[in-house]
Amino acid sequence: MSPMPTLAAPTYADVADAAQRIAGAAHRTPVMTSRTADERAGATLFFKCENFQRMGAFKFRGAYNAISHFDERQRAAGVLTYSSGNHAQAIALSAKIAGIRATIVMPEDAPAAKIAATRGYGGEVITYDRYTQNREELGRKLAEERGMTLIPPYDHPHVIAGQGTSAKELFGETGPLDYLFVCLGGGGLIGGCALAAAALSPSCKVIGVEPEAGNDAQQSLARGEIVHIEVPRTIADGAASTHVGEYNFPIIQRHVEQIVTVSDAQLIDTMRFFAERMKMVVEPTGCLAAAAVLNKVVPVEGKRVGVIVSGGNVDMARFAQFVS
Ligand SMILES: *Cc1c(COP(=O)(O)O)cnc(C)c1O
Repeated sequence: MSPMPTLAAPTYADVADAAQRIAGAAHRTPVMTSRTADERAGATLFFKCENFQRMGAFKFRGAYNAISHFDERQRAAGVLTYSSGNHAQAIALSAKIAGIRATIVMPEDAPAAKIAATRGYGGEVITYDRYTQNREELGRKLAEERGMTLIPPYDHPHVIAGQGTSAKELFGETGPLDYLFVCLGGGGLIGGCALAAAALSPSCKVIGVEPEAGNDAQQSLARGEIVHIEVPRTIADGAASTHVGEYNFPIIQRHVEQIVTVSDAQLIDTMRFFAERMKMVVEPTGCLAAAAVLNKVVPVEGKRVGVIVSGGNVDMARFAQFVS
């Protein structure tokens, strides 16, 4: 098999193109406001609620966009990915809608509910031992053997462009903003959102938010190169990545003003806030951006501030533990 051609770095034009490709398939998620939240932050906040996206997180945008680019040969063989989280379900659901096969490589100790959800969308799950096997190598090898197209969770131009449609929709509703807070794992969401901000609200400062235990992107930005860390221990499992992507990092360097961190305790406090005040179930990772704003990690007094709420997939028993 010939090697995958290298795709060009994504631009705002790709975000605009993705918006057309996902229209009708993805939900246009609501932008919510809360007077209590505004009072706490001393600012005017606009929450872009991806917890109400299909399959419960923004990841559907990037996955669906990526698959929409497949040609006949790629469609015939299907899509493959590695993920234990929301990207797995996003690929499985997008493949089902597109009528193609999906294979998902997941750690054998992934929560049974997540494996079941992925199978429920029709995805074939292959498990691996995450202590002895490298998922990226295994994914590449399987994709090659089966002729399937590998769509990784964040390090891909079509994934980044798809994720950026979330911020594009937000600016379409709010107009220009002073700040946009976005959580960050591998940098797919913030990459796309930063491209949208630069094009639609050029003076808007984009702030990345990571869990305290896993501040690899903050370190990378400071050092000017991608820093790899050990798998961080945090309840923000969606942002427990060990490094940002190759396509993602230059966008972050160019368009992200600052990267800050929040603690797990602040995430729990924010989960409780969303549940109690805004009647929303938000997963720990989905609370990162809001936690930075509500705890005034960056002063935004009197400003108009966008906050991406990235997802709402959390086991109900865990959720109950967190908010009780
Ligand atoms: C994947 C994910 C993230 C992190 O996104 P990246 O594109 O890897 O930076 C944040 N929140 C949720 C809910 C996710 O599923």
